[in-house]
Amino acid sequence: MAEGTVHIVGAGLAGLSTAVRLAGRGRRVVLHEANRFAGGRCRTFHDPRLEREIDNGNHLILSGNRSARAYLAAIGAGERLVEQPARFAFVDLANDQRWTVAMSGGAIPWWIAAPGRRIPDTGIADYLAGIRLALAGADKTVAEALPGRGPLWTRFWEPLTLAAINTTPERASAALLWAVLRETFARGERYCRPMLAPGGLGPALVEPAVAWLEARGAELRLGRLLRTVESQARRAATLRFADGDEVLGADDRVVLALPPSRLRAVLSQALPGIDPPDDACSIVNAFFRLAEPPPEGLAPILGVLSSTAQWIFRRGDVVSVTVSAADSLGLDTKAGEELIPEIWQEVRRALGLAAGTSYLAARINKERRATFDQSPAGVAKRLQPRTALGNLFLAGDATDTGLPATIEGAIRSGERAAVLVA
Ligand SMILES: Cc1cc2nc3c(=O)[nH]c(=O)nc-3n(C[C@H](O)[C@H](O)[C@H](O)COP(=O)(O)OP(=O)(O)OC[C@H]3O[C@@H](n4cnc5c(N)ncnc54)[C@H](O)[C@@H]3O)c2cc1C
Repeated sequence: MAEGTVHIVGAGLAGLSTAVRLAGRGRRVVLHEANRFAGGRCRTFHDPRLEREIDNGNHLILSGNRSARAYLAAIGAGERLVEQPARFAFVDLANDQRWTVAMSGGAIPWWIAAPGRRIPDTGIADYLAGIRLALAGADKTVAEALPGRGPLWTRFWEPLTLAAINTTPERASAALLWAVLRETFARGERYCRPMLAPGGLGPALVEPAVAWLEARGAELRLGRLLRTVESQARRAATLRFADGDEVLGADDRVVLALPPSRLRAVLSQALPGIDPPDDACSIVNAFFRLAEPPPEGLAPILGVLSSTAQWIFRRGDVVSVTVSAADSLGLDTKAGEELIPEIWQEVRRALGLAAGTSYLAARINKERRATFDQSPAGVAKRLQPRTALGNLFLAGDATDTGLPATIEGAIRSGERAAVLVA
């Protein structure tokens, strides 16, 4: 059988992962991307104010993310993510209490039996109640699935849900949180080591993939905005880009690796009934370039409670702060001038810097469409990778991977689309 060209639209991690899998099998691949750069929601850029390379937001990858690891190995970038021990440091700014959760190896979580390794004021039974997430139906939220609102709730379930699902526990799908736990925390320490990118997300996950693809003859066409797909006889026939048409041959295939809102627009003629979840869930990130070197022994990631700041990541002299579910918390509409001093005071206290310590430069980055609606109702709208058009497939973190909107989910969606195409 003749093998036509595979046109992949969207060079985020889902599109890159699809392209890597297909080019690896010798398929001719053309990757079309609206922006002048690849990476989509996961990118590194030079910030002139900070005079540093920064990521658009902190991204946590865990060692249990098997698809992300396989992708990195395939593009020869396995060493660009550095594994950290699974020790999670926290500070509660309400009372300045600090603790570190130190997980043990193996699937049996012995660490929850050791009071010094678990979260203060929690008992073994609190942790075991987490199994209720696995048993909750698809229509349940995290808050509905889990009983009790004690210390484990405020110190673990709530921050974990915000970080992993970018949604408050009152809205977040219990099934999605369980999917994360099943592949990471429930399997023991080896599977939940943070994997950090000291050189940035782009140099780890994006640039090596682009170079790898180009070396195999794949074409990356930047600045190509797909406006619409035209169909004929239940097949995609023409891709109408802002700068011209791509008429598809009989053996050509298309993979749309686009976020839901874009997908709805480009498929409005070819698949008018398509109804993906909304994708207006935002994340706010604050960046501070420190005036002095960070304190010795500072954890690379610090969870912060009773504050606007949720997680503090440190890379060199830049600390970056994540505020997930910023839309639900009413923080995405707050002006940067208001957020910067508020978050800085929290960072200063969390890092133990003296009162009056200032920073050299700061900036806020608001990602208004960071993730899709990960409530049970939103999850029920996730699209399957096959469509009613025989030669058109879907990838992207919002397709029905069973995982939340994550790097792992995006990469896995690309693996799956590549299998369907091949
Ligand atoms: C601030 C932030 C923090 C995050 N934190 C984490 C985290 O800690 N851990 C984690 O695993 N995940 C995290 N995520 C989620 C993760 O970044 C995404 O799930 C993943 O990058 C999505 O990849 P994708 O390829 O599915 O979509 P995208 O990255 O959105 O890629 C889609 C691509 O399509 C292009 N495109 C759109 N429309 C068109 C068009 N009409 N024509 C051509 N091209 C088009 C876009 O420009 C983009 O490049 C975070 C996201 C953000 C924004």
